[in-house]
Amino acid sequence: MVITTDHPHRERAEQRRKFVPPSRLHLPDVPDRAEDALLDQLLYATADGCQDCRSMLLDRFAQDAGATHKLVDWACWIATEVYGGLPAELVDEAATADTLFRPSLTFCRLAAEYRARGRTSSGMYTAREPAQRREAADTAVTLVAGLQRCWTDFLYR
Ligand SMILES: [Zn+2]
Repeated sequence: MVITTDHPHRERAEQRRKFVPPSRLHLPDVPDRAEDALLDQLLYATADGCQDCRSMLLDRFAQDAGATHKLVDWACWIATEVYGGLPAELVDEAATADTLFRPSLTFCRLAAEYRARGRTSSGMYTAREPAQRREAADTAVTLVAGLQRCWTDFLYR
C-alpha cells in the first residue's frame, strides 16, 4: 500500500525535549524497514495535532504487525528512560484509570510484557486484531509526543 500526504510533518526545532524517532531506533527483534520513515511521520503529525494524518497513518499501521511492534517497543524504551522504568500508570489497568492519559488496554498489556522482559514479541502483534494494534500504536505515539511536551508530568497531570 502506498500512502501519500499532501503536507509532510517534520521534527520541530523548538521542541523542548527530543527523542530518537522510531526510524532511528534499532531494535534487535524488529527488522528495520524503509517504511519506518512513516512511523516518524506519525510522531510529527501527533506533535502537530494533525488528526487527518494521524488517522490515515494509524489505519495503515493497524494492518502492519511489524510497524505496531516497532512503535510500542520504541515508546516503552523511551518511557523507561524517562521514568527510570515503566510506571504502573502505563501497565496496570487500575492505575491507568487515574490518569488523564488513559492508555489503551492493549498497550498496557504489551507494556507489561515489555516491563517484564525488556521487549515484546512479534507474536503478540500478529495474534491481535487490527483494531487492537491501532489502539496500541495510538497510545504509543501519543505517549511519546506527550513526554516531549510535558516531560514526566505528562502522566501525572
Ligand atoms: Zn497532517
